[in-house]
Amino acid sequence: MTAKRFFVNSSEIKFPWAQLKGAEHHHLAHVLRKKTGEKIIVFDEKGRLYQAEIIEIGKNKTSIRLLTRESPPVREVIINLGLGILKAKNMDLVIQKATEWGVARIFPLLTQRTVVKMSEGGEKKIKRWRQIAVEAAKQSGQVLLPQIEKPVNLDQFIQECSGAEKLFLSETKGKILWQALEELAATFSSSSSSSSSSSSSSSSSSQKEIILAVGPEGGWTEEEQNYMINHGFEAVSLGPYILRAETAALAGVAIVAHYFMGKS
Ligand code: SAM
Repeated sequence: MTAKRFFVNSSEIKFPWAQLKGAEHHHLAHVLRKKTGEKIIVFDEKGRLYQAEIIEIGKNKTSIRLLTRESPPVREVIINLGLGILKAKNMDLVIQKATEWGVARIFPLLTQRTVVKMSEGGEKKIKRWRQIAVEAAKQSGQVLLPQIEKPVNLDQFIQECSGAEKLFLSETKGKILWQALEELAATFSSSSSSSSSSSSSSSSSSQKEIILAVGPEGGWTEEEQNYMINHGFEAVSLGPYILRAETAALAGVAIVAHYFMGKS
């Protein structure tokens, strides 16, 4: 059985000491009723995993001593997701599942057909999405939390995508996603073999990055699709049926993550 894991923000770590606060403290102290001296596992937002011992359970925080520290696992292929902002429960669902699959960054997209209102820069929603990601990571054993970005428009998103292989899911155009991944994998392996024959490449320099963008409930406009294509995105399809945006996002992430799992 997997040991219970807790999230600690790295700002709360002064190695070997750390503190669990807020929801994590509440979960440990009041839900699981852990006791002083018990061993737990914690992870931080950088993907570092620690074994720890509970030193003191206070009213508002738990003090722990970190006993071991493991470096974060390396993502062979970094997958980022641009997601037209969906209605609350669909957005929550996609963030939860994308976290389980190890997506590195999630960009909530303000598109022409986005209907969800984001007040005051969306701080409240972003906080909620980050908490959903923490819960999903705790539950699934994933240690690499996605970075949940502030909502951006298509232009800002495109600026963030340089250097990545760029795909967007389209119900109206493009080749089948699987075929696009086969082509990307071939490009990746030829670029890895040429970089390793020309120099002693490090693993980080050979890290590949893919961005997958998914439209909101109302879909992309034709203008947005053309704009993305003109900025180096390739349209890809999940088949002939019009899937709900959350179905498309979940399937797209799962297919890409599973395809590249364990591939370098
Ligand atoms: N407004 C559109 C309509 O009613 O015809 C449907 C938009 S669809 C619900 C929302 C998003 O899901 C699309 O922008 C696209 O990113 C994705 N999507 C849905 N079906 C897809 C498919 N078969 N292949 C690829 N992407 C799909």
